[in-house]
Amino acid sequence: MSEFDGAAFVRFLRTFADRIHERRDELTQLDSAIGDADHGINMDRGFSAVRAKLDGLDATDLGAMAKAVGMTLISTVGGASGPLYGTFFLRLATAFGDTQAADAQGLGTALRAGLEGVVQRGKAALDDKTMVDALVPAVDAYEAAAGDGISAALEAAATAAAVGRDRITPLVARKGRASYLGERAAGHQDPGATSTTILFESLRDAVAGS
Ligand code: ADP
Ligand code: MG
Repeated sequence: MSEFDGAAFVRFLRTFADRIHERRDELTQLDSAIGDADHGINMDRGFSAVRAKLDGLDATDLGAMAKAVGMTLISTVGGASGPLYGTFFLRLATAFGDTQAADAQGLGTALRAGLEGVVQRGKAALDDKTMVDALVPAVDAYEAAAGDGISAALEAAATAAAVGRDRITPLVARKGRASYLGERAAGHQDPGATSTTILFESLRDAVAGS
């Protein structure tokens, strides 16, 4: 695939919403160990609402689509993850503007903008044990591979997100609810880094073979 268009965006959103729904209990289980046992519930609520809006969405304008997703997440999801994922999609929207298809470079620029929004909003740095630890390596890997095209870059991004997710499991959290646990958070996989990895795997699979 040489361009990421509205149809690919819709495939991604459906894939991600499906997987979040399927893995809702797993995400909530992870959050029960180091949080308040609602990450799967939060994400499923948000992306079920996104899915419900997909049919009425104008699937030509990438920016308008991303904006609708971001607004839906912010208005339906409580907790830290709603505003963070909401901001991610709103920043994607600004970066896409009214474009109907992004090339590998354009998608990378949008993903970078999304990451910057999450960091600005949540103030988490690398090694704070949050979704940022999956997002940063994913976007870095995407950019490094963007010259090889969207599919290759998303393949690299999904792999890097999973590596980031697993790398921080031994760490103590310094942001979010898990930070209240001190040493007890060490050894537990982070729920947000897990959902972010699912996001990149969904993006990869939504464009693969198309
Ligand atoms: P809450 O913590 O409010 O219950 P969720 O359970 O839905 O919200 O999401 C928890 C996830 O949010 C954490 O696993 C972590 O990855 C992410 N998170 C929490 N705080 C921050 C932050 N300040 N910046 C980035 N990500 C964060
Ligand atoms: Mg929670």
